[in-house]
Amino acid sequence: MTTQSVPVVLVTGASRGIGRAIAELLLRDGYDLHATYASDAKAAEGLLGFAEQLGRRVTLHRYDAGSRDDQTRLAEELQGVRLHGIVHNAGMIEFENFAAYEMTTWDRTLEVNVTSTLRLTLALQSQIESGGSIVLISSTDAFSGAYASMAYAASKAAMVNLAKSLACNFGPRNIRANAVAPGWIQTDMTTGASSGSAAVTPLGRDGKPEEVAGVVAFLLSDRASFVSGTSIAVDGAYTASDAIMLNEARELG
Ligand code: NAP
Repeated sequence: MTTQSVPVVLVTGASRGIGRAIAELLLRDGYDLHATYASDAKAAEGLLGFAEQLGRRVTLHRYDAGSRDDQTRLAEELQGVRLHGIVHNAGMIEFENFAAYEMTTWDRTLEVNVTSTLRLTLALQSQIESGGSIVLISSTDAFSGAYASMAYAASKAAMVNLAKSLACNFGPRNIRANAVAPGWIQTDMTTGASSGSAAVTPLGRDGKPEEVAGVVAFLLSDRASFVSGTSIAVDGAYTASDAIMLNEARELG
């Protein structure tokens, strides 16, 4: 009798928010995880008990995606681990003053959101198995110009394109890569920032982290076996709607 090995996925930023919902759904779907957090160890440790109840395994790693040393250390900690997939979810936003722009914000945001994604993927590339899947958590901000978060929007746009390049380069090994672009999702990141978002989202509400997780789980599964090099918005039609046309329709009654 052969023993079927449990597929293993790395999820970055799994302590809270969207990453936590992804981690919990993947555990329910039967994956074992390597999961990272940046500073909130207590929140991340909650995943351990959750996994134990399901008979699954989680290995936690402290990881600041903005640190080149941490990027190298995480890859070393994962050396020899066969991976079914990577979910690049860890991310940050920092608001900017265009007239007094701080390039440190640009550098750090690009490093945390996109450069670390590429560096980690390259470091782990030989460990990803045929049939595997890489998911980059981008944002609908990738598709618009930004006022006070240019670095964030540019980093998320880069992730959409990077998913395509990863799909091209990993394709011959039967490994897929895609981006997921959430709209307004209720997490710590959007607390206090999303006022009015429900009113301009055709579904009439913000999304829940679990609703992003469902799409990520699909992309990691065989059900998405021919889905690669694309991005999927999970935004309640936020990007399908136009504010002026909405006003026009309202004025017309
Ligand atoms: P969140 O609740 O603030 O969680 C952020 C997660 O990333 C936490 O696990 C955090 O770890 C980790 N993290 C933060 N800075 C990090 C760093 N420098 N290095 C490594 N990990 C770091 O945010 P979220 O809303 O769930 O966002 C998750 C992803 O979805 C991000 O990439 C974000 O850009 C994207 N997104 C979110 C929305 C939304 O509406 N919420 C919309 C579009 C895209 P600690 O807990 O240890 O701090």
